[in-house]
Amino acid sequence: MGPSARNYRRLGDRVKVEFNLATQVQFLKSVGPARARALLRLGIDTVGSLLHHYPRRYFDRTNCERIGRLHPGTEATVQGEVLTSGERRTRRGGSLQTVTLGDDTGVLFCIWFNQSYLLKQFRPGQRVMASGQVQFHGGKLQMAHPDFEVSDNADGGAGLHTGRLVPVYGLTAGVGQHWLRALVDQALERCAGQWPETLPASLRRKRRLPPLVEALQGIHFPANSDALSTARQRLVYEELFYIQMLMALRRGDQQQRTGIALSAPGDLTTRLVGGLPFQLTGAQRRVLAEILADLRSGRVMHRLLQGDVGSGKTLVAFIAALFVIEQGYQATLMAPTEVLARQHGRSLTGYAGPLGVTVETLTGSTPAAERRAILAAVASGEVDLLVGTQAVIQDTVHVPRLGLAVVDEQHRFGVRQRGESGRKGDTAPQAHVLVMSATPIPRSLSLTLYGDLDLSLIDELPQGRQPIETRIAKEKEEGEVWQACRDEIAAGRQVYVIYPVIEETEGQDLKAATVEFQKLAGEVFSDRRVALLHGRLKAREKDGIMAEFSAGKIDVLVATTVIEVGVDVPNATAMVIHNPERFGLAQLHQLRGRIGRGAHKSRCWLLCDRFLAEESFARIRFFAANSDGFALAEEDLRVRGPGEAWGVRQHGAPGFRLANPLTDTALVAVCQEDARALLAGDPDLSGPDGRVVRQGLDAVFGRHVVPSAG
Ligand code: ADP
Ligand code: MG
Repeated sequence: MGPSARNYRRLGDRVKVEFNLATQVQFLKSVGPARARALLRLGIDTVGSLLHHYPRRYFDRTNCERIGRLHPGTEATVQGEVLTSGERRTRRGGSLQTVTLGDDTGVLFCIWFNQSYLLKQFRPGQRVMASGQVQFHGGKLQMAHPDFEVSDNADGGAGLHTGRLVPVYGLTAGVGQHWLRALVDQALERCAGQWPETLPASLRRKRRLPPLVEALQGIHFPANSDALSTARQRLVYEELFYIQMLMALRRGDQQQRTGIALSAPGDLTTRLVGGLPFQLTGAQRRVLAEILADLRSGRVMHRLLQGDVGSGKTLVAFIAALFVIEQGYQATLMAPTEVLARQHGRSLTGYAGPLGVTVETLTGSTPAAERRAILAAVASGEVDLLVGTQAVIQDTVHVPRLGLAVVDEQHRFGVRQRGESGRKGDTAPQAHVLVMSATPIPRSLSLTLYGDLDLSLIDELPQGRQPIETRIAKEKEEGEVWQACRDEIAAGRQVYVIYPVIEETEGQDLKAATVEFQKLAGEVFSDRRVALLHGRLKAREKDGIMAEFSAGKIDVLVATTVIEVGVDVPNATAMVIHNPERFGLAQLHQLRGRIGRGAHKSRCWLLCDRFLAEESFARIRFFAANSDGFALAEEDLRVRGPGEAWGVRQHGAPGFRLANPLTDTALVAVCQEDARALLAGDPDLSGPDGRVVRQGLDAVFGRHVVPSAG
C-alpha cells in the first residue's frame, strides 16, 4: 500500500487523497480486509478493476407498474408494502416462501422455493420493489423468484436502487448487490477528475464516442437507455480498438521488412501440378496466385490461409514451399500435433520424392542420433523442406536459407506472438510466413484474432466430393450402426469410432474407451483388424498405428480426439461418434472431416446413448443438418460465446468484457480501419493521439507492447 493511502487510513476524511484507477479498493469507505478478499474473488483489486466489473444486466425501474395493472406473461417492476410473509412445506418435501405485496390497486404474491433465509429480510409495512415475470396462478397474481429490494435498506446509496435503470452485478459470497452498487457509486465519485482518457480525441470525435468518465458513469448508472447504449458503444469500441491497434502495429512492423524476392515459378511447380491425379480447384489456383504475388513483391508475406476441412490447404502450402525451394531456399512446415506432423511428413514425402525434393520430419520423439543427423542436414542446406511440431522447429533449429515458414494451427489468440521472423532493425531479407487455420473461423472473429495478416480464402471443395450423410442414432439402434460399418469394411472401406476423451488425463474416460475397444475388437468386429489410438500412447506407437491405418492394414480405428486435426485417409468412409454432445460443433466438424475425403460415399453416425437436454439435442441436430464449417463455427460462437467456443478467455486474451465479436462485427471492421489509419498517420505513436494510444496499449496488454520509438 502506498504512503498516501496509509495517510488516508490514519487521518480519515480530513486528508484529501488522490484517488485514481490504480488505487486499491481497500481505500474506499466500507471495504475492510474481509470485503477486500471477497472482491478479489471477483477479480477486483483496484478501483479500475471495480469500474470494469460491468453490470450483467439492468432492472428497468424507471417506471413502476401499479399491481392492479399488471399483465400476466410480461416482465414488470412493482413497488408495494409487505402485507404478510410466511412459508409452508411442499408435498415433495421442500419449502415454499410467500411474501405478499400490496398497493392501493391490488395484491401480488411473491414466491420462492427452499429459500427460508429470505424471509428474515421482510417485515410487514416495509416498502419493497420486486421485478420479474408476472404470472396468473390459482386466481392470483404472482412472481416466482423475483429480484427484489427492500427500499428502506440502510446500506447507503439512496437513489441508486430505485426509480432508474438499476445495474445488476455478478456477485460472490460476502458481496451483496446493494453494497456493490454503492461501492461503485463511491468509486465513480471519488475518482472524478482523476481519469486518464484512453481514446484519442480525434477518434472520439470521428466516431461520436463519449469520454471515458462519462462512459463508465453511463454503463453503471445510465440516465436512460440511450445513455446506456452510448456508454456501451464507447467501451466496446475501446476493447476492439486496442486489439486492432496491436494487430496494426504488428502488421506495420511486418510490412516494413524486406522479404526474399522470388522470380516466376519454375519447373518443379509445373511438374508437380502436371503429375497430380486431379486438377487444382479454382479457389486453390486463386490463393496460389495471391501467395505468389506476395513472394515476388519484395516485402515479407504474412498471410492467413483459411479453408474448410478437406479443401486442400496442405497441397497449397506444399506448392508455396516449392516456389521457394526451386529457387534455392528452404521451407518449414509446423503442425500443432505430433500425429499431424508425421502425417504431413509422409504425404509431402510422397509428393516430393519424384521431384527430387528432400523432406525430413522432426518431432519431440525423434531419437537423439536421428535428430542430430537431421539438424546437420538442415544446416548444410541439404534438406529442402523440414516438417515438424511447432515447439521443436521454433526452438532449436537453424535453417540457413529459410524462404518460407508454414504454420498449421488450430486456433490462434489475439495477443500470442506467432513464430518470430526476425528482429526489428534487421535489414536482411526475411522469410515469408503462411499461417493455415485448420478450423473455419467466423469472419468477425478472424479479423480480431488474425487482424495483422492478409487473408486468402479457399471457398470451394474439390470436385466429386460426395456430401457426408450424418444420422443421429439412439442406443437401441447401435446394432444397425455396427452392421452398416461391417458392410463398409466388406466393400473395402475403413471405419473410425470416436470416443469423447476430452482431457487425455481423465482416467475414467480413457478406461471407458478402452473397455469399448475390447468389446468392438472381441465381439462386433472380431474378424476384423481393430486398433486403439489415444493420447497416452507413445508418439512412435501412435505414428505406427496411423501409418498402418493409412496403408489400409487396419479396418477399424477406435480413437479419441487425437485424430481430430487434419488426419487424411481417403479410404475411410464411415465414422461413429459416441456421445457427440460432449464435443463443440467446430470440433465435431473437424472429426467428421476425416471422412468424405475420397470418391466414395461417406456416412457419419452420432450415437447418443442417454437422454439429452433439448438444448444439446438441438445442437446435435444442427450439426447433422449442416456441413458448412463456417456456419457451424458461427453457431458454436453464438451458443457458447467466444470464451467457451474458442478458449479466448482461457488463453488470457484481453478484450471481450463487453464486446462480442459475433454481434459487433461491423464495429470490428471499423476499429481495424481506425487503427490502421492512425498508425499510418503516426507510425511512432509520438503525436498527441499516438501518446494516448501508447499508454492505452501498455495498460491493456502490459508493458512493452509497443517497441520504443525509433
Ligand atoms: P485440408 O484443407 O483439410 O488440410 P487436405 O489438404 O488434407 O485438406 O486435403 C484433403 C484431401 O484432398 C487430400 O487427400 C488431398 O490430396 C485432396 N485434394 C487436395 N486438392 C485436391 C483437388 N484439387 N482435387 C481433388 N483432391 C484434392
Ligand atoms: Mg489440413
